[in-house]
Amino acid sequence: MKLIINNPGLFLLCCLMIFSSCGQTQNTDNNNTMDTINNKNPYYSRSDTTKLNLTDAEWRKVLSPEIYAVSRNKETERAFTGKLWNFEGTGTYYCAACGNPLFRSDAKFASSCGWPSFFEVMHKNSVIYKDDNSFGMERTEVLCGRCGGHLGHLFDDGPLPTHKRYCMNSVALDFVPDAKAEGQDTITLGGGCYWCVEAVYEELSGVISVTSGFSGGTTKNPSYEEVCTGTTGHAEVVQIVFDKTLTSLDEILKVFFTVHDPTQLNRQGNDIGTQYRSVIFYRNDRQKETALDLIKSLNASKVYDKPIVTKVEKFAAFYKAEDYHQKYYENNKEQPYCKLIIQPKLEKFEKVFKDRLKTK
Ligand code: FE
Repeated sequence: MKLIINNPGLFLLCCLMIFSSCGQTQNTDNNNTMDTINNKNPYYSRSDTTKLNLTDAEWRKVLSPEIYAVSRNKETERAFTGKLWNFEGTGTYYCAACGNPLFRSDAKFASSCGWPSFFEVMHKNSVIYKDDNSFGMERTEVLCGRCGGHLGHLFDDGPLPTHKRYCMNSVALDFVPDAKAEGQDTITLGGGCYWCVEAVYEELSGVISVTSGFSGGTTKNPSYEEVCTGTTGHAEVVQIVFDKTLTSLDEILKVFFTVHDPTQLNRQGNDIGTQYRSVIFYRNDRQKETALDLIKSLNASKVYDKPIVTKVEKFAAFYKAEDYHQKYYENNKEQPYCKLIIQPKLEKFEKVFKDRLKTK
Protein backbone atom coordinates (compact mmCIF):
# COMPACT_ATOMS: atom_id res chain seq x y z
CA MET A 1 0.00 0.00 0.00
CA LYS A 2 1.43 3.33 -0.99
CA LEU A 3 0.00 6.36 0.77
CA ILE A 4 0.64 9.98 -0.05
CA ILE A 5 0.23 12.72 2.53
CA ASN A 6 -1.85 15.39 0.80
CA ASN A 7 -3.05 17.14 3.92
CA PRO A 8 -1.31 20.56 3.87
CA GLY A 9 -1.16 20.69 7.69
CA LEU A 10 0.39 17.28 7.89
CA PHE A 11 2.80 18.13 5.12
CA LEU A 12 3.91 21.24 7.00
CA LEU A 13 4.37 19.15 10.11
CA CYS A 14 6.51 16.73 8.14
CA CYS A 15 8.59 19.61 6.81
CA LEU A 16 9.11 20.84 10.36
CA MET A 17 10.18 17.34 11.27
CA ILE A 18 13.10 17.72 8.89
CA PHE A 19 14.61 19.83 11.62
CA SER A 20 13.16 18.19 14.65
CA SER A 21 12.41 14.51 14.08
CA CYS A 22 15.66 12.75 13.61
CA GLY A 23 17.92 15.77 13.87
CA GLN A 24 20.81 14.85 16.10
CA THR A 25 24.50 15.37 16.45
CA GLN A 26 26.02 15.18 13.03
CA ASN A 27 25.17 14.47 9.44
CA THR A 28 26.09 11.29 7.68
CA ASP A 29 26.05 10.60 3.96
CA ASN A 30 24.59 7.35 2.79
CA ASN A 31 27.23 5.92 0.52
CA ASN A 32 26.35 2.81 -1.37
CA THR A 33 28.88 0.58 0.29
CA MET A 34 26.40 -1.78 1.87
CA ASP A 35 26.97 -4.85 -0.30
CA THR A 36 30.71 -4.75 0.24
CA ILE A 37 30.26 -4.21 3.97
CA ASN A 38 27.70 -6.97 4.37
CA ASN A 39 30.03 -9.44 2.68
CA LYS A 40 32.63 -8.59 5.30
CA ASN A 41 30.25 -8.63 8.24
CA PRO A 42 30.07 -12.15 9.73
CA TYR A 43 27.15 -11.14 11.98
CA TYR A 44 24.91 -10.04 9.10
CA SER A 45 22.25 -12.72 8.64
CA ARG A 46 18.74 -12.58 7.20
CA SER A 47 17.88 -15.92 8.78
CA ASP A 48 19.48 -15.97 12.23
CA THR A 49 17.18 -14.38 14.82
CA THR A 50 19.51 -14.78 17.79
CA LYS A 51 20.15 -11.56 19.68
CA LEU A 52 23.50 -9.93 19.02
CA ASN A 53 25.59 -8.47 21.80
CA LEU A 54 28.89 -7.29 20.34
CA THR A 55 31.45 -4.96 21.81
CA ASP A 56 32.01 -1.55 20.34
CA ALA A 57 35.35 -2.71 18.95
CA GLU A 58 33.68 -5.64 17.21
CA TRP A 59 31.05 -3.38 15.65
CA ARG A 60 33.73 -0.98 14.45
CA LYS A 61 35.47 -3.87 12.75
CA VAL A 62 32.43 -5.13 10.79
CA LEU A 63 30.44 -1.99 9.98
CA SER A 64 31.22 0.70 7.44
CA PRO A 65 31.89 4.11 9.01
CA GLU A 66 28.54 5.34 7.63
CA ILE A 67 26.50 2.52 9.15
CA TYR A 68 28.49 2.62 12.40
CA ALA A 69 27.81 6.35 12.79
CA VAL A 70 24.04 5.82 12.67
CA SER A 71 23.65 2.33 14.11
CA ARG A 72 26.07 2.57 17.04
CA ASN A 73 26.60 6.31 17.43
CA LYS A 74 22.95 7.32 16.93
CA GLU A 75 23.80 9.95 14.34
CA THR A 76 21.33 11.01 11.68
CA GLU A 77 21.78 11.29 7.96
CA ARG A 78 20.80 14.60 6.36
CA ALA A 79 17.18 14.69 5.21
CA PHE A 80 16.69 14.04 1.48
CA THR A 81 20.20 12.59 1.10
CA GLY A 82 19.62 8.91 1.78
CA LYS A 83 19.01 6.54 -1.10
CA LEU A 84 15.72 5.21 0.27
CA TRP A 85 13.68 8.27 1.34
CA ASN A 86 11.80 8.47 -1.99
CA PHE A 87 12.57 4.95 -3.17
CA GLU A 88 9.80 2.65 -4.37
CA GLY A 89 10.24 -1.06 -4.81
CA THR A 90 8.61 -4.28 -3.67
CA GLY A 91 10.63 -6.15 -1.12
CA THR A 92 11.90 -6.23 2.44
CA TYR A 93 13.92 -3.71 4.45
CA TYR A 94 16.50 -5.30 6.74
CA CYS A 95 18.74 -3.85 9.46
CA ALA A 96 21.90 -2.82 7.61
CA ALA A 97 24.03 -3.77 10.60
CA CYS A 98 22.76 -7.29 11.33
CA GLY A 99 20.25 -8.37 8.64
CA ASN A 100 17.17 -8.46 10.89
CA PRO A 101 13.94 -8.12 8.81
CA LEU A 102 12.26 -4.81 9.78
CA PHE A 103 9.71 -3.51 7.26
CA ARG A 104 7.84 -4.67 4.18
CA SER A 105 7.60 -2.27 1.25
CA ASP A 106 3.80 -2.16 1.43
CA ALA A 107 4.09 -0.39 4.81
CA LYS A 108 6.24 2.41 3.31
CA PHE A 109 4.61 5.73 2.52
CA ALA A 110 5.67 9.06 1.02
CA SER A 111 5.92 11.29 4.09
CA SER A 112 7.85 14.17 2.46
CA CYS A 113 10.06 14.42 5.54
CA GLY A 114 13.20 13.33 3.73
CA TRP A 115 13.68 10.01 5.48
CA PRO A 116 12.18 6.62 4.60
CA SER A 117 8.90 6.33 6.51
CA PHE A 118 6.79 3.29 7.38
CA PHE A 119 3.46 2.93 9.17
CA GLU A 120 4.17 -0.48 10.70
CA VAL A 121 6.96 -2.95 11.40
CA MET A 122 7.04 -6.48 10.02
CA HIS A 123 6.88 -8.28 13.36
CA LYS A 124 6.31 -7.03 16.88
CA ASN A 125 9.85 -8.20 17.70
CA SER A 126 11.47 -6.52 14.70
CA VAL A 127 12.29 -3.43 16.74
CA ILE A 128 12.50 -2.25 20.33
CA TYR A 129 11.64 1.20 21.67
CA LYS A 130 13.38 3.54 24.06
CA ASP A 131 12.50 6.96 25.47
CA ASP A 132 14.79 9.59 24.01
CA ASN A 133 14.93 12.93 25.80
CA SER A 134 17.99 14.26 24.00
CA PHE A 135 18.09 17.76 22.51
CA GLY A 136 15.26 18.93 24.77
CA MET A 137 12.73 16.78 22.93
CA GLU A 138 10.56 13.89 24.10
CA ARG A 139 10.83 11.25 21.43
CA THR A 140 10.65 7.49 21.02
CA GLU A 141 13.79 5.97 19.66
CA VAL A 142 13.47 2.89 17.44
CA LEU A 143 16.23 0.28 17.66
CA CYS A 144 16.79 -3.02 15.88
CA GLY A 145 15.24 -5.92 17.83
CA ARG A 146 18.24 -8.15 17.08
CA CYS A 147 21.35 -6.00 17.38
CA GLY A 148 20.00 -2.98 19.29
CA GLY A 149 21.31 -0.65 16.58
CA HIS A 150 19.77 2.80 16.26
CA LEU A 151 17.36 3.04 13.30
CA GLY A 152 15.43 6.30 13.82
CA HIS A 153 12.38 7.53 15.73
CA LEU A 154 8.67 6.80 16.00
CA PHE A 155 5.99 9.50 15.71
CA ASP A 156 2.20 9.53 15.96
CA ASP A 157 1.57 11.51 12.78
CA GLY A 158 1.54 8.63 10.29
CA PRO A 159 -1.31 7.57 8.01
CA LEU A 160 -4.00 4.94 8.51
CA PRO A 161 -4.24 2.19 9.57
CA THR A 162 -1.79 2.78 12.45
CA HIS A 163 -1.26 6.58 12.47
CA LYS A 164 2.41 5.76 13.20
CA ARG A 165 5.43 7.07 11.34
CA TYR A 166 8.62 5.07 11.69
CA CYS A 167 11.10 7.72 10.56
CA MET A 168 14.21 5.76 9.62
CA ASN A 169 17.71 6.50 8.40
CA SER A 170 18.30 5.12 4.88
CA VAL A 171 21.79 4.08 5.84
CA ALA A 172 20.43 1.92 8.66
CA LEU A 173 18.34 -0.07 6.16
CA ASP A 174 19.23 -2.68 3.59
CA PHE A 175 16.54 -3.15 0.92
CA VAL A 176 16.22 -6.53 -0.79
CA PRO A 177 13.76 -6.77 -3.69
CA ASP A 178 11.38 -9.74 -3.57
CA ALA A 179 12.53 -11.28 -6.82
CA LYS A 180 16.14 -11.30 -5.70
CA ALA A 181 15.60 -12.30 -2.11
CA GLU A 182 17.91 -15.20 -1.53
CA GLY A 183 16.66 -18.31 0.19
CA GLN A 184 13.05 -17.13 0.47
CA ASP A 185 9.91 -18.91 -0.62
CA THR A 186 6.21 -18.04 -0.65
CA ILE A 187 3.21 -20.31 -0.11
CA THR A 188 -0.50 -19.53 0.09
CA LEU A 189 -2.66 -21.56 2.46
CA GLY A 190 -6.37 -21.66 3.29
CA GLY A 191 -7.26 -23.22 6.64
CA GLY A 192 -10.54 -21.57 7.59
CA CYS A 193 -10.66 -18.10 9.14
CA TYR A 194 -7.42 -16.34 8.19
CA TRP A 195 -7.27 -14.51 11.54
CA CYS A 196 -6.46 -17.85 13.21
CA VAL A 197 -3.92 -19.07 10.68
CA GLU A 198 -2.14 -15.71 10.50
CA ALA A 199 -1.75 -15.52 14.30
CA VAL A 200 -0.01 -18.90 14.36
CA TYR A 201 2.49 -18.25 11.57
CA GLU A 202 3.42 -14.86 13.01
CA GLU A 203 5.07 -16.84 15.84
CA LEU A 204 6.96 -19.43 13.78
CA SER A 205 10.69 -18.91 13.48
CA GLY A 206 11.78 -18.32 9.89
CA VAL A 207 8.50 -16.72 8.81
CA ILE A 208 9.28 -13.31 7.33
CA SER A 209 5.75 -12.09 6.67
CA VAL A 210 2.15 -13.30 6.83
CA THR A 211 -0.56 -11.51 4.90
CA SER A 212 -4.26 -12.29 5.12
CA GLY A 213 -6.22 -12.26 1.87
CA PHE A 214 -8.14 -14.23 -0.73
CA SER A 215 -7.21 -16.75 -3.42
CA GLY A 216 -8.74 -19.33 -5.69
CA GLY A 217 -11.78 -17.40 -6.94
CA THR A 218 -12.80 -15.45 -9.98
CA THR A 219 -13.57 -11.97 -8.62
CA LYS A 220 -10.71 -9.49 -8.92
CA ASN A 221 -9.87 -7.45 -5.81
CA PRO A 222 -12.78 -8.82 -3.76
CA SER A 223 -13.86 -7.21 -0.51
CA TYR A 224 -14.24 -9.25 2.69
CA GLU A 225 -18.02 -8.83 2.46
CA GLU A 226 -18.05 -10.19 -1.11
CA VAL A 227 -15.97 -13.22 -0.11
CA CYS A 228 -18.32 -13.85 2.85
CA THR A 229 -21.24 -14.34 0.44
CA GLY A 230 -19.48 -17.46 -0.87
CA THR A 231 -20.09 -16.44 -4.48
CA THR A 232 -16.60 -15.19 -5.44
CA GLY A 233 -15.02 -18.66 -5.37
CA HIS A 234 -12.26 -17.29 -3.15
CA ALA A 235 -10.99 -18.90 0.02
CA GLU A 236 -9.71 -16.96 3.01
CA VAL A 237 -5.97 -17.54 2.88
CA VAL A 238 -2.67 -16.41 4.32
CA GLN A 239 0.30 -15.70 2.11
CA ILE A 240 3.48 -16.69 3.92
CA VAL A 241 6.96 -15.52 2.96
CA PHE A 242 9.56 -17.61 4.75
CA ASP A 243 13.30 -18.05 4.99
CA LYS A 244 14.20 -21.50 3.73
CA THR A 245 17.38 -21.58 5.80
CA LEU A 246 15.45 -21.17 9.04
CA THR A 247 12.28 -23.15 8.34
CA SER A 248 11.07 -25.30 5.46
CA LEU A 249 8.01 -25.86 3.34
CA ASP A 250 7.60 -29.19 5.11
CA GLU A 251 7.49 -27.47 8.52
CA ILE A 252 5.15 -24.75 7.25
CA LEU A 253 2.76 -27.46 6.06
CA LYS A 254 3.06 -29.49 9.28
CA VAL A 255 2.02 -26.39 11.22
CA PHE A 256 -0.88 -25.97 8.78
CA PHE A 257 -2.14 -29.51 9.44
CA THR A 258 -1.77 -29.02 13.20
CA VAL A 259 -3.79 -25.84 13.58
CA HIS A 260 -6.83 -26.59 11.44
CA ASP A 261 -8.99 -29.64 10.79
CA PRO A 262 -8.23 -30.81 7.23
CA THR A 263 -11.00 -33.41 7.33
CA GLN A 264 -13.82 -30.85 7.37
CA LEU A 265 -15.19 -30.09 3.91
CA ASN A 266 -15.83 -26.41 3.25
CA ARG A 267 -15.93 -25.46 6.92
CA GLN A 268 -13.93 -25.03 10.13
CA GLY A 269 -16.23 -25.43 13.12
CA ASN A 270 -18.94 -22.81 12.96
CA ASP A 271 -17.35 -21.08 9.96
CA ILE A 272 -19.22 -22.71 7.10
CA GLY A 273 -18.86 -22.14 3.34
CA THR A 274 -16.38 -22.69 0.51
CA GLN A 275 -14.50 -19.56 1.62
CA TYR A 276 -13.40 -21.59 4.66
CA ARG A 277 -12.18 -24.60 2.62
CA SER A 278 -8.90 -26.30 3.38
CA VAL A 279 -6.59 -25.62 0.44
CA ILE A 280 -2.91 -25.37 -0.46
CA PHE A 281 -2.08 -23.14 -3.45
CA TYR A 282 1.21 -24.31 -4.93
CA ARG A 283 3.53 -22.18 -7.09
CA ASN A 284 5.72 -24.93 -8.51
CA ASP A 285 6.01 -28.71 -8.82
CA ARG A 286 8.19 -28.95 -5.72
CA GLN A 287 5.51 -27.31 -3.57
CA LYS A 288 2.83 -29.51 -5.14
CA GLU A 289 4.77 -32.74 -4.52
CA THR A 290 5.69 -31.77 -0.94
CA ALA A 291 2.01 -31.08 -0.16
CA LEU A 292 0.72 -34.26 -1.81
CA ASP A 293 3.41 -36.41 -0.14
CA LEU A 294 2.59 -35.01 3.31
CA ILE A 295 -1.16 -35.56 2.83
CA LYS A 296 -0.49 -39.13 1.68
CA SER A 297 1.69 -39.83 4.68
CA LEU A 298 -0.77 -38.30 7.18
CA ASN A 299 -3.60 -40.36 5.68
CA ALA A 300 -1.50 -43.53 5.72
CA SER A 301 -0.57 -43.13 9.37
CA LYS A 302 -4.19 -42.34 10.25
CA VAL A 303 -3.35 -39.14 12.08
CA TYR A 304 -6.98 -38.11 11.67
CA ASP A 305 -10.11 -40.26 12.10
CA LYS A 306 -11.33 -39.27 8.65
CA PRO A 307 -9.54 -38.76 5.30
CA ILE A 308 -7.98 -35.38 4.56
CA VAL A 309 -10.07 -33.27 2.17
CA THR A 310 -7.49 -30.49 1.67
CA LYS A 311 -7.35 -29.41 -1.99
CA VAL A 312 -3.96 -28.87 -3.63
CA GLU A 313 -4.47 -26.27 -6.38
CA LYS A 314 -2.25 -24.23 -8.68
CA PHE A 315 -1.77 -20.68 -7.43
CA ALA A 316 -3.20 -17.99 -9.69
CA ALA A 317 -3.64 -14.74 -7.75
CA PHE A 318 -3.62 -13.37 -4.22
CA TYR A 319 -5.65 -10.36 -3.12
CA LYS A 320 -4.71 -8.75 0.18
CA ALA A 321 -7.61 -8.34 2.61
CA GLU A 322 -8.53 -4.96 4.09
CA ASP A 323 -6.03 -3.51 6.56
CA TYR A 324 -8.15 -4.20 9.64
CA HIS A 325 -7.87 -7.94 8.91
CA GLN A 326 -4.07 -7.87 9.09
CA LYS A 327 -2.55 -8.87 12.45
CA TYR A 328 -6.13 -9.22 13.66
CA TYR A 329 -5.39 -11.37 16.69
CA GLU A 330 -2.54 -9.17 17.83
CA ASN A 331 -4.79 -6.10 17.68
CA ASN A 332 -7.98 -7.67 19.09
CA LYS A 333 -6.87 -10.14 21.75
CA GLU A 334 -9.74 -9.26 24.09
CA GLN A 335 -12.50 -9.98 21.58
CA PRO A 336 -14.54 -13.15 22.33
CA TYR A 337 -13.70 -14.76 18.95
CA CYS A 338 -10.01 -14.28 19.58
CA LYS A 339 -10.24 -15.66 23.12
CA LEU A 340 -12.51 -18.61 22.30
CA ILE A 341 -11.36 -19.66 18.83
CA ILE A 342 -7.91 -18.27 18.05
CA GLN A 343 -6.23 -18.50 21.46
CA PRO A 344 -6.73 -22.29 21.86
CA LYS A 345 -5.28 -22.88 18.37
CA LEU A 346 -2.34 -20.67 19.21
CA GLU A 347 -1.76 -22.49 22.49
CA LYS A 348 -1.85 -25.85 20.70
CA PHE A 349 0.69 -24.60 18.17
CA GLU A 350 2.94 -23.15 20.89
CA LYS A 351 2.86 -26.49 22.72
CA VAL A 352 3.65 -28.67 19.70
CA PHE A 353 6.22 -26.32 18.14
CA LYS A 354 7.61 -24.89 21.40
CA ASP A 355 11.22 -25.06 20.16
CA ARG A 356 10.34 -23.34 16.91
CA LEU A 357 8.92 -20.04 18.15
CA LYS A 358 10.47 -16.68 17.34
CA THR A 359 12.62 -15.27 20.12
CA LYS A 360 10.76 -12.52 21.94
FE1 FE B 1 20.17 -4.99 13.66
